Formats: sequence, structure tokens, C-alpha cells
Amino acid sequence: MSRRYFYVTTPIYYVNADPHIGHTYTTVVADALARYHRLCGEHTFLLTGTDMHGEKVVEVATRQGSTPGAIADHYSGRFEATWDELGLGFDRFIRTNDPDHVKLVKDILTRVHEAGEIEFREYEGDYCVGCERFLTDRDLVDGKCRDHETPPERRSEANYFFLMTRHFDWLADYIETHPDFIRPERYRNEALAMLREESGLGDLCISRPKTRLDWGIELPFDTDYVCYVWFDALINYLTGIGYPDAPGFRELWGTCEHLVGKDILKPHAIFWPTMLHAIGLEPPRHLNVHGYWVVDDRKVSKSLGNMISPTVMRDRYGFESFRYFLLRDMSYGLDSNFTEELMVGRINADLANNLGNLVSRTLNMTARFAGGAVPEPLAPEEPETKVAEAVVRAVTLVDEYVRGLQIHRALEAIFQVVDATNRYLELREPWKAAKDPERTGSVHTALYTCCEALRIVAVLLSPFLPETAAEIARRLGVEAELADARLPEAARWGQIQVGTSTHKGAPLFPRIEWPPPEDASA
Ligand SMILES: [Zn+2]
Repeated sequence: MSRRYFYVTTPIYYVNADPHIGHTYTTVVADALARYHRLCGEHTFLLTGTDMHGEKVVEVATRQGSTPGAIADHYSGRFEATWDELGLGFDRFIRTNDPDHVKLVKDILTRVHEAGEIEFREYEGDYCVGCERFLTDRDLVDGKCRDHETPPERRSEANYFFLMTRHFDWLADYIETHPDFIRPERYRNEALAMLREESGLGDLCISRPKTRLDWGIELPFDTDYVCYVWFDALINYLTGIGYPDAPGFRELWGTCEHLVGKDILKPHAIFWPTMLHAIGLEPPRHLNVHGYWVVDDRKVSKSLGNMISPTVMRDRYGFESFRYFLLRDMSYGLDSNFTEELMVGRINADLANNLGNLVSRTLNMTARFAGGAVPEPLAPEEPETKVAEAVVRAVTLVDEYVRGLQIHRALEAIFQVVDATNRYLELREPWKAAKDPERTGSVHTALYTCCEALRIVAVLLSPFLPETAAEIARRLGVEAELADARLPEAARWGQIQVGTSTHKGAPLFPRIEWPPPEDASA
């Protein structure tokens, strides 16, 4: 069987502020997906990075008396260091001023220009600095930019245009005939509506005169201009895996999963596929569009000052808890609410009470009633078989949900195993049976069943909560096995070795008081 490939990308983030909850969410999803596909033995590549160009960087530099290059380097470094610190892995952290990217953008511009897909035109319109583009009627609400709530500037310019509209019939047809290309469905419908709207999208302005912006990649056919930031930025997805001729490029590109927020649907659903079509490449396999994290009923943004810092959350609650909340509470595609109270409720219910309790009960009783080693079970009866069946169900569901980008459901399916095992313990009551020396076999069977269920829970959880999974495996004495685990084999029932030494430990997730004690006394 040929090895399967998996390529996942985050957007390249703007370098005008520190990473917040929105960036963290997308990067955590990418990390969890990459870990899951690696666990399935697939050749996996995760690309993230930062967009170094664009007017917003220039604005921040001007405000801070700095240079765009220094500002871009500073924030780009903050992103890379934050992901490193939080254990979010990537195969490449790309910056759009990396030499291979600059070269590729120029090569593609040259090709598209020579193919007659680019025209020079005079244009006048309403320009939003925040969006870095001219706005259309549908972008305006009461004369203000819908996204930025600021009035646009009137601007007139001669610029280069990519003749994007030529590709619209092809694109509409592609979206119609590939129903899950843009998912969830609501965004597919939104993209189709953008294409159909009469007054809507024209051709794409892809240049900025250097007289007003000289921060960007110079056009290879006119040195008075730099490239429009989106045309440059989108190409990073090709640079990252070595288009056109790096080994594995074709295989990876054929499996490409873009993760994007809904605010950048248009560039990804419209600009990007038409650009790819112009150079003869297929669109990515899926464009996966997620909603916003809402804090106090407002979208998170720098201008609103309601950003949630991932390192602050890590210091306060532990990163795995924050990561769990992000993955468990957002239904991919829909907006989701963040408050610390909601998060604490979730951590206490799922991680402290449910999972944490099962781990400590199992390992404490294994220490007390089985000498701290996985005991030999009797032949399974119906209750044991039910736990094993819950595992089989979860393995199938997790795979289906992860590949369908329904990570909250995948976690739900894993926690159904935890629930089933907790119910099983209540049924078998080994703490009572242990008082009767004739029932040692039943006690041992119960503890074996719980240890084995937890071993498989650790395997299934490892893409989502890698540190927690490793800790559970360490306490079960199967850390090395987890490191080498492959799905689906590793989730087959009955692999934990009788006699393996187990270790009790401190609670995995201590219950968090809410409201925090300091606040209560204030
Ligand atoms: Zn705007």
C-alpha cells in the first residue's frame, strides 16, 4: 500500500499584534490534525507562518517610529516563539520575505503576466486601509467598512489587475461539482453568492504603487510597483512545500487542507482558486472555514482590546486545559463563546471529574488491590465486553469526525469511552469486592479492564491532549508504546501486558475554584 499524505495549513498571520485566541485556535486545530494523521502513519506536513507585508505593518511602524521590517520581524518572532513554547509543532514556519517565497511570487507573476492574465488599468474607489483593498457596495454598512467599522478613503490609482473574472464560470462549476470543497456548507453557499452577485467582484487589483507603499515584493515587470499583499500571501501555501518540483509536492498538494477564519473566506474561496487555475493547479482538497471566538459578544480583535493571550491562559490554567476547551467547545464553522467561567466549568466537568477521576480511581485501586501492576483478568463477561465495544465505536467515530473537521465530536466520542468505563466501575464496585477474598478474580478483571480502556483513551487523546495522554501512558507503564502507537492497531482491545508496573500520581487536573478565591474576597 502506498503511503498516504496529509498537508495542513494555517493562514499566515498578520504581524501587527501578538497571537490571540483566534490564531491559537487555528494553530491548535492544525496541530491536532497533523498529530492525528501522523498517528495514522500518514506522511504529514504542517505549514504556518506570518505575512510580513501589507499596509498595516507600515502603519504600526509609523506609529511606533520603527521600520516595517523591524516590526514584521518582531511580531513574526513572537508568533514562532509562542507556538514553540506551547508545543504546537510545525514542519515549516514561513515568512513572506523568505527568499524562496519572494522568488516564487515573482516567477508566478511573470508567468501569469506573460499568459495575458494581467492588465494595467485606472481605478477609483472606496479604499479601506484595514482591509488593504478597495471596497465594494456589499462591504459597506452606513458608509463604513463592514469589518472595521471605519469610513473608507476615496482613492484613485493606476494599477495592475489579475483578470480573475475570466475564471468565475469555471470556479462556480468547480464549487457546484465538488460539494465539500468549501466546508461547512454555509460558506460554500456564501462563496457561490459572491460569484453570482452582479455588482460584486471585479478583477483583482494586484499592485500598489511604491509612491504610497514600498513594503512588499516588487513586480517583476514594473519596478514602480509592489505586489498586493493577498496575491503574495496566498502563494505561501505553494512555497511551503516546494512548488513546483520538490519531492512530494504533488502528493502533498493533492491532500491540502486549508484552515481559515470566515473573515478571509473571499481571498481563499475566490482569489486563490482562480490564481491556481491560471497556473494550471487544482484547488486545495478542502477549504475549512471556521467561525469567530466571541468574547463579551464581540469578535476578538486588537482594535476592540478583548484578545485572549494563549500564554496568559497557559500560566493560569495549563495549556492543555485551554487547548481542550478550544477544541471541545467550538463546533467548526460556527461562532463560539469564550469566557473563563465557561472554560473552568468545562475543565472541571470533563477533565477533573470525568477523566481525572477515572485515572486516579483506577491507579489507586491497582496499587491497593493488585500490588501496583496490571492484574491478570478472568474471561470477559458482558460488562467487560461492553467497555471493549465502546472503544471500537469510538475508534471509528473519531476517525470519521477528525477527517470531517468535527473535532468537538471526536472528543465527545473519546469521552464516551471514559463515561462507559466510569459506569463499568460503578457496576463492578471493585472497592467492595476487594473485601471478599473469594472475589479477587473479579477485582482484577475490573482493574485490568479500566487500565486497558485508559491505555486506549490515551492513544485516542494523544493528538488532542498530547501531554495528558503521555502522562496517562506513563502512569500505566506504557509510555514507550504510546510513542510508537499507530492507529487503528494501537486501539485494538487487549494489548496491555499483565504485570506492567503502574504509578499513582497527583490529580491530573485539580478542580479549579470559580470564582477564583482572590476575586471572591475582593
Ligand atoms: Zn475594512
